[in-house]
Amino acid sequence: MTDRIRDFLRARRDMGQDEGPVMVLDLEVVRDNYTAFARALPDTRVFYAVKANPAPEVLRLLAEMGSCFDTASVVEVEMALAAGATADRVSFGNTIKKERCITRALKLGVRLFAVDCEAEVEKIARAAEAAGVEAGDVQVFCRILCDGAGAEWPLSRKFGCVPEMAVDVLEHAYRQGLTAYGVSFHVGSQQGNTGAWDGALASAAMIFAECAQRGISLQMVNLGGGFPTKYLKAVPGVESYGDAIFRALTKHFGNRMPETIIEPGRGMVGNAGMIEAEVVLVSRKSDAEDEVRWVYLDIGKFGGLAETMDESIRYAIRTEHDEDRMAPCVLAGPTCDSADVLYEKVPYPLPVSLSIGDKVLIEGAGAYTTTYAAVAFNGFPPLQQYVI
Ligand SMILES: *Cc1c(COP(=O)(O)O)cnc(C)c1O
Repeated sequence: MTDRIRDFLRARRDMGQDEGPVMVLDLEVVRDNYTAFARALPDTRVFYAVKANPAPEVLRLLAEMGSCFDTASVVEVEMALAAGATADRVSFGNTIKKERCITRALKLGVRLFAVDCEAEVEKIARAAEAAGVEAGDVQVFCRILCDGAGAEWPLSRKFGCVPEMAVDVLEHAYRQGLTAYGVSFHVGSQQGNTGAWDGALASAAMIFAECAQRGISLQMVNLGGGFPTKYLKAVPGVESYGDAIFRALTKHFGNRMPETIIEPGRGMVGNAGMIEAEVVLVSRKSDAEDEVRWVYLDIGKFGGLAETMDESIRYAIRTEHDEDRMAPCVLAGPTCDSADVLYEKVPYPLPVSLSIGDKVLIEGAGAYTTTYAAVAFNGFPPLQQYVI
C-alpha cells in the first residue's frame, strides 16, 4: 500500500465516510509503471488496454505521458479521445465488432483494426467505403491463437486463428485494398513466464515470410498484454520481460526488426489500486472442531472480484490482525448467489481473531475490478473508485 492510499483511507474513516467497499487508485504508481514499460521496451509503442481500468484520470495521465490506447468498443474509443489522445494513437483491438461500430470508429479517425477471419476483413472494407475513408489508409492486423500456457488468466480460443490461416486473412485484406499491416497475439493475462512470447514470435516471423512471398510486406507485430502484477506470488520485473522479448524478436526476425506494439492492461494499473472492504459475518457450518470458518465480505464476485472465478486470481488480503495465528477460511461475497464464493477449493488463511466489522485490504486491485462490478445485483451498488 502506498502512503497516499493509506492517508486517503484514514481521512475517509476519520470523516465517518467509510461505508461500503471502495477501490483507491494511486496515479503515481501508474506513472511509474508507464515509465518502466517505456524503458524496458524502448523501441515499442505502448497501447494501454483501456478495459483494465478506464477511469478518466488514468486515461488522461497516460495520454499526457505519450501512451496510445487499445480499445474494444466505440465507447472506449471515445473515452481515449476525450482523455486527449489523437485518433492515430487509438487501435480498435477487438476482433469481434459490429460493422456500424467500425464505421463509427473510422469516422472518429481510427485507422488501426484487429481481425482474425475473412468475414471481419470484409466488414472493415465495407465500413471504410461507408465512412468515405480510403481503404489503403486503414491498417489491419491479424490476431493468431496462443495457448496461454503459464498464464493465470488465459484467454483461451476465443480470439485469433491459426498462423497458417492468418496468411490468408491478411492476403484477403490486401486484396480488398486495405493495408495488411501485421500480426498480433496475447500470451494470456498474468503471464508468469517471460519466455511465453517466443513461440508466438516464431509464428509471426513465419507469417511475415509467407506474406512476403505473396508480395505483401507486413510491418508490425503487436505483442499484446500479459505483463503481470504482483498478487500473492512474486513476479519477474518488467525489465525481464523486455529482455526476453527483445531476444525472441532478434532470434526470429534477425536484423529485419518489425515495428512493435505492446498492450499492457494489468501490468499498468494492477498494483496501483487497493480495495478496502469489511467483514460482514464470520460463521461455521457445524460445531465440529475442524470445521472451517466462513468469512463473508461486503465485496464478492459481483462487486468487483470477478477474476476470482475458478479461483484464478488469488489476491493478497491484509487485515489488522495479521500477526495473530492464521487458519484457513472459505471466503465469500455478500450476495444471495451461491456462485459468489471467492476461495473454497483452496481455502484462504486469515487470522483467527478476524471478526465482524473488521476492515480488510485487498491488494493489487487496480485492474479488472471496478468495471467488472454489477450495477446493482441484489441491491449492492457497484464498486466505488477514488483516483488520487
Ligand atoms: C485485455 C487485453 C489486453 C490487456 O491484457 P493484460 O493481460 O491485462 O495486459 C491487451 N490486448 C488485448 C487485445 C486485450 O484484449
